[in-house]
Amino acid sequence: MRSPWLLLLLLLAPVQAAERPLKALIIDGQNNHKWQETTPVLKKLLEETGLFAVDVATSPPKGSELSGFLPKFAGYAVVVSNYNGESWSPAAREAFEKYLRAGGGFVVYHAANNPFADWKEYNEMIGLGGWGDRTEAAGPYLRFRDGKMVREAKPGPSGHHGKRHPFQVTIRNPKHPITAGLPALWMHSQDELYDSLRGPTDAKINLLATAYSDPATGGTGEHEPMLMTLAYGQGRVFHTTLGHDLESLSCVGFIATFQRGSEWVATGKVTQKVPPDFPTAGRLSMRK
Ligand code: ZN
Repeated sequence: MRSPWLLLLLLLAPVQAAERPLKALIIDGQNNHKWQETTPVLKKLLEETGLFAVDVATSPPKGSELSGFLPKFAGYAVVVSNYNGESWSPAAREAFEKYLRAGGGFVVYHAANNPFADWKEYNEMIGLGGWGDRTEAAGPYLRFRDGKMVREAKPGPSGHHGKRHPFQVTIRNPKHPITAGLPALWMHSQDELYDSLRGPTDAKINLLATAYSDPATGGTGEHEPMLMTLAYGQGRVFHTTLGHDLESLSCVGFIATFQRGSEWVATGKVTQKVPPDFPTAGRLSMRK
């Protein structure tokens, strides 16, 4: 016999999914970065928007059996990855693909673009990745030249950064909800400026912001992708290469783009106002 209550629950399910607070899940547990320091900051940044209730799923440490690590992605409006570690089980990979394809939200944070070089679907989700044994086979570089994205297939490193320093970020798409209203140029506090990332050519990248990777600080002389969005199935992805450590996380430019990007992947909209202390072309702005 079909229960009328079950039917009612099914009818209410989509309504509940859009209710506040939005459910967010941060994944961590393995990273060559100090995830024990950065996850609490990311959690606080999400919570202070007033939009999110945040859970954290911490994997077993490096070298452990990961087959039991199966976060329940379904039901979250956004999954933020602060994970750069060993391969997940096929079941966890499949569950994450299914979650995103069905309309989930994914925020790729800094070194989360390093792992899983061998996971084809993950590389389509993140669009660009580096390190982790990636070679030319991971796809071409993506740079910004003469007003447009340029993919360049040539041998060379896959993932690199020069000396850490403050640098200017240039918005390349001011029409996207995440970047709408932000200054066209703004200073980011000292951070790693990722360069030479590679990715599959069929990844649907919308490049939002770049930064000039200056040879004077060990960079490439190219305008490198910093912020981007992607579509994966029905899902939305926001990828920020920024945020190596607590200093870079204190930049209001990082904070606001992370908060706005998280809302956008969760709902497709951004309701947050640009904070009045947002950095400018010539002035850093950091919060304690
Ligand atoms: Zn880093």
